[in-house]
Amino acid sequence: MVDDAKLIIFTAPSGAGKTTIVHRLLEADSRLAFSVSACTRKKRPNETNGKHYYFLTEEQFKKKIENGEFIEWEEVYPGIFYGTLSSEVERIARQGKAVVFDIDVKGALNIKNKFGNKALAIFVKPPSLEALRERLKRRNSEDEQSLAKRLERVSYELSFENCFDHVIVNDDLDKAVKEARLIIGKFLEQ
Ligand code: 5GP
Repeated sequence: MVDDAKLIIFTAPSGAGKTTIVHRLLEADSRLAFSVSACTRKKRPNETNGKHYYFLTEEQFKKKIENGEFIEWEEVYPGIFYGTLSSEVERIARQGKAVVFDIDVKGALNIKNKFGNKALAIFVKPPSLEALRERLKRRNSEDEQSLAKRLERVSYELSFENCFDHVIVNDDLDKAVKEARLIIGKFLEQ
């Protein structure tokens, strides 16, 4: 079942705006559905379990690793785990929809390598490092320590941009969404 599904992977350094782009795409295209990841970080006040993430304890997450329930998982920040459950992709594939992922760079590469042409991997790039820093600060969802952790990771993640099918620079949200729609349209028609 998973083998029949088309997979659309969005990845980016934290704060590049990929989540906003993904939301805009999902709102407007009923052929797409969002893959809800599992993670062990704390739920933010505006988030709902089962909609934004499946929030798990580290123990629950590790049990699922042992049971082979993940297509991919990563310790994205030290001690904080994120992963894509096979059951989630199967659920969406059963609906006959394309699965949209919002995941980190390594997870994106893992899924791309596993599924090849069935997967479209899009890297969203911030216009500059400074813009990214400002965006993360404005979001204000991080304490100082976790903001620092996120920024440390950014340069590392930017070094992977050449590994993806498409790179979208998010300097103008409407333009970026339009570009993503065009790319996805072509992919779904293939
Ligand atoms: P946030 O905590 O800001 O929601 O997400 C932090 C990072 O984890 C983002 O880059 C996000 O895309 C990534 N992430 C979310 N879900 C997954 C997943 O299932 N697998 C991997 N590898 N990364 C994920």
